[in-house]
Amino acid sequence: MSDASTTVGVIGLGAMGAPMASNLARAGLLAAVWNRTTSKADVFFAEFGVVRASDPADLARRCDVVLTCVSADGDLLDVIDALLPGLSAGKIVVDTSTVQPATAIEIAQRLEKLGCGFLDAPVSGGVEGAKQGTLAIMVGGAAATLERARPVLNAIGKRIAHMGPAGNGQATKAVNQIMCAGINHAVTEALAFAEDQGLPLDKVIDVVSGGAAGNWFLEKRGPTMVRWEFNPGFKLALHYKDLAICKAIAEQRGVILPVVEMTLEQYRRLIDAGYGDEDISALYREKRKLFDNE
Ligand code: NAP
Repeated sequence: MSDASTTVGVIGLGAMGAPMASNLARAGLLAAVWNRTTSKADVFFAEFGVVRASDPADLARRCDVVLTCVSADGDLLDVIDALLPGLSAGKIVVDTSTVQPATAIEIAQRLEKLGCGFLDAPVSGGVEGAKQGTLAIMVGGAAATLERARPVLNAIGKRIAHMGPAGNGQATKAVNQIMCAGINHAVTEALAFAEDQGLPLDKVIDVVSGGAAGNWFLEKRGPTMVRWEFNPGFKLALHYKDLAICKAIAEQRGVILPVVEMTLEQYRRLIDAGYGDEDISALYREKRKLFDNE
């Protein structure tokens, strides 16, 4: 499979899938798209002239590599079921969704029986990274499958790491999501404190970003959260789903992770209050409440 001959189909044109598909189209690799809500596929047809597959199996028949980016485990398993009639030996499925390692292992075993390759290839870098084609990609699966799929991953990401067998990409993503939860707490809590102190928040974000506490989330989401703008980005309900995965893995080891527990609790409150489709920086709402004591 070379750069020139590889054809890719993308399933799931959401906040992450759409910009990844755009980059694949610009690299000359995108052959077809399918999205449950068909209007999103129509946008791709209008912009790039790519085929709108009639269903996932139709897409699989048209492509060497199928790249999936859907919400959660059950959604991915449904899509894999729908892909199966169109898959044949030699094809590769690359999943960029965030799901349980066990789900990735189950899918890898199912596809192996058909002679198909599977990579769990969850991504990090946000919508910005997806748009710029600079995602970090954590890959589980056979090294040979990764080498065949590498031209596809090169079109959407910058740092591509082979983490080991199937499931290890997702396990690495779980590490990433625990860290993101801690960073979200640190940034939202510190900026809520800064606001309460009456400091000029734009200057706080700028100067702190240049020092030891500087980080991606502060730079990208700090300026919007202090304006109470919480457009995703990364939906809070999706991070909740990821942290539930982390909690389940830790529980298998008999361990309770404080950052994971605290974040699940506060996200649950926000979801119940109707903020699940907001960006994860909506945690700022909870942190500001701590100062509402007048
Ligand atoms: P999103 O904007 O909500 O998009 C979800 C996509 O999945 C949509 O295209 C949706 O189709 C499709 N989908 C959901 N359930 C489906 C089902 N049962 N069958 C078929 N298609 C289905 O979410 P996103 O932010 O792109 O996230 C997608 C995945 O990437 C998630 O696993 C998330 O955890 C992960 N992720 C997100 C980010 C981020 O910053 N946003 C970063 C890294 C990883 P419809 O259009 O029909 O709803």
